[in-house]
Amino acid sequence: METRVSNASQIISLVEKGALLYVSHSGGKDSQAMYAEICSIAPREQVVVVHADLGEIEWEGVQAHIRGNTVHDVNVVRADKTLFEMVRRRAVMRPDVPAFPSSAYRQCTSDLKRNPIYKFIRKDMKARAAHLAVNCIGLRAAESPARAKKETLKRNGVLSKAGRTVYDYLPIHDYSDTEIFAAIAAAGQKPFWAYAAGNKRLSCVFCIMGCDNDLRNGVRERPELYQKYLNLEAEVGWTMFHGASLRDRVGPSD
Ligand code: SF4
Repeated sequence: METRVSNASQIISLVEKGALLYVSHSGGKDSQAMYAEICSIAPREQVVVVHADLGEIEWEGVQAHIRGNTVHDVNVVRADKTLFEMVRRRAVMRPDVPAFPSSAYRQCTSDLKRNPIYKFIRKDMKARAAHLAVNCIGLRAAESPARAKKETLKRNGVLSKAGRTVYDYLPIHDYSDTEIFAAIAAAGQKPFWAYAAGNKRLSCVFCIMGCDNDLRNGVRERPELYQKYLNLEAEVGWTMFHGASLRDRVGPSD
């Protein structure tokens, strides 16, 4: 089987051993391309799609987009708190440090995405009496120097317990943007509409690591959500970015 994914022979070997492949799907282009590639190397019954629902801070219609571009059930998981609750709690518990998460302190990713997905994987493997799984994540080297250094296949020490072995896997780690869009097109699909509206990445509408361009698009598409972030900054007494308010990042409104 010819495929371009990272560590293809090792993954195909795991698939042949019956591993379940959990595909974390955000609705973004990287997730969409990753899903297409995983479906090309694994039988349908071994692929499981999971989406971490972030509530009002994610793009409207993103879950419909995932459902419209997958042939699997979409398992939606949620944290027991929202981003706004998380920021408020941190402002109270640790008034000495910034209340918003940052690239160095990615509490949003760990608490709102990774932990609920891990919980789901544990539960789902137990329900299926499965012992071997692969946690597929759509990170790419081109996104940042830190991501470029990530291992593309490694044992997940947190999930590999109690008779379970789980690997973390970055199938599209070395794909370029062009290859990502090509993989989506080859699957007969289109990326989420926000890319055509000018977004470079699809994350939370207002991501702590978002570029100015994407933040401005967020203001245009979700002005009411923008105002909620400004209100939250005022409430907790911290700006969303280190030394800069979301208002500073998007510039004056028209
Ligand atoms: S998309 Fe950005 S703000 Fe949202 S959870 Fe991820 S890092 Fe945090």
